[in-house]
Amino acid sequence: MEPDRSKIQPRYRAYGRKHIGRIRQLDRLSRDRLIELEVASAVLPFRVNDYVLDELIDWTDIPSDPIYQLTFPQAAMLDRADYFRLRGLLMGGADGEVVRHAAREIQMGMNPHPAGQMELNVPVLNGAELPGCQHKYRETVLFFPRAGQTCHAYCTYCFRWPQFVGVERLKFAMHEIDLLVSYLRQHQEVTNVLVTGGDPMVMSSALLRKNIEPLLGDGLDHVTSIRIGTKALSYWPYRFVSDHDAEDLLRLFEEVRSSGRQLALMAHFSHPRELRTGVVREALRRVRDAGAVVRCQAPLIRHVNDSSEVWADLWREEVRLGLVPYYMFVARNTGPRAYFEVPLAESLRIFSDAFVHVSGLGRTIRGPVMSATPGKVLVVGDANVNHQKVFVLKMIQGRDPEWVNRVFFARFDPWATWFDQLEPASGSWDSFFEPSV
Ligand SMILES: *Cc1c(COP(=O)(O)O)cnc(C)c1O
Ligand code: SF4
Repeated sequence: MEPDRSKIQPRYRAYGRKHIGRIRQLDRLSRDRLIELEVASAVLPFRVNDYVLDELIDWTDIPSDPIYQLTFPQAAMLDRADYFRLRGLLMGGADGEVVRHAAREIQMGMNPHPAGQMELNVPVLNGAELPGCQHKYRETVLFFPRAGQTCHAYCTYCFRWPQFVGVERLKFAMHEIDLLVSYLRQHQEVTNVLVTGGDPMVMSSALLRKNIEPLLGDGLDHVTSIRIGTKALSYWPYRFVSDHDAEDLLRLFEEVRSSGRQLALMAHFSHPRELRTGVVREALRRVRDAGAVVRCQAPLIRHVNDSSEVWADLWREEVRLGLVPYYMFVARNTGPRAYFEVPLAESLRIFSDAFVHVSGLGRTIRGPVMSATPGKVLVVGDANVNHQKVFVLKMIQGRDPEWVNRVFFARFDPWATWFDQLEPASGSWDSFFEPSV
């Protein structure tokens, strides 16, 4: 399908809390809703751009619209008492510093660093830690390029961004890619590098090239795939179509391909609507023409995509467009989780109801999956074992590769939302993995 050229914008404009008065779509909201946005966004900073505002949000359906929920903070995402305390400060004209301090306190109560992900699994090269990298699963190294630690828009449920604000700046930052290359040369077991963020696609093509080309160099034949985790196809598809360096980006993808490797975009699509604009279809056509594979993943989020119809529609649309459904995640235990979380039992029902309504082409999807401390835990189903109702779980990635593909049982609990709330069905967890969650 040809993109609507009139919708192709040469210039990227993003808006945050400071610009609430300048977002013309917000004019139609009531004064109460605007106050709500101002208060909630002191804790959950938002960022949107013209594409999200003009093309993704249905402004006749506020506040229920899923993309509005995905990008605009709501009062109910905060604890009631916190919300009213902050509202009082703001309405009472409190000093900016006082408001910031109160907001910071509330943020700190929202578990901004779940499971110590950034501190654990840091690779070590010749006795020194590798900045901006993580090596948890044998075959895959995660690489967080410093310049890619923000996003084109922010998802309200995501607490990654404050994590990056405070990331310690290391002295030898300029060499992080060289250190990674040295590390990979010593680790023949690594088959792929996942470049992630934030969103690496906020970087210029030239900068991205500096972070990717070295991975195609000598002594790295064992690295057969480069993956890039991104939400840009959803939040700013112009990145691949009309941004000034879009062509250069596609050439970079082609270079990875012609080095004999797979270039995979691990694309974050939360709702089928994100796949339906002219420009996203054009972007997908271009990245696929450049030889990239697009694999799709997203968390299941209350108020955004908590229905089996939405997921079945999403997977069908992905298959139609030649994309590969990959993971349906359980929302992490961070941020406004009470607002967004869906119990595992309900997630399983939503997943299964959607799964039975797609063909085998869509059943490349795996879920619901929790990225927990010991590994990625798949909720396979529920069952009765020895007259007890259980969740059947399977480790599909493990800190110890020996755990992978092992099945184990947890006591069925209709309300549990995360792995740490589950109890082993037989009194203690199977001995194959450490019980630490
Ligand atoms: C999910 C994840 C990966 C990639 O896992 P795949 O199953 O290969 O997609 C790698 N490292 C970490 C820490 C992860 O959470
Ligand atoms: S795109 Fe990803 S990293 Fe960025 S705000 Fe959304 S969930 Fe977080």
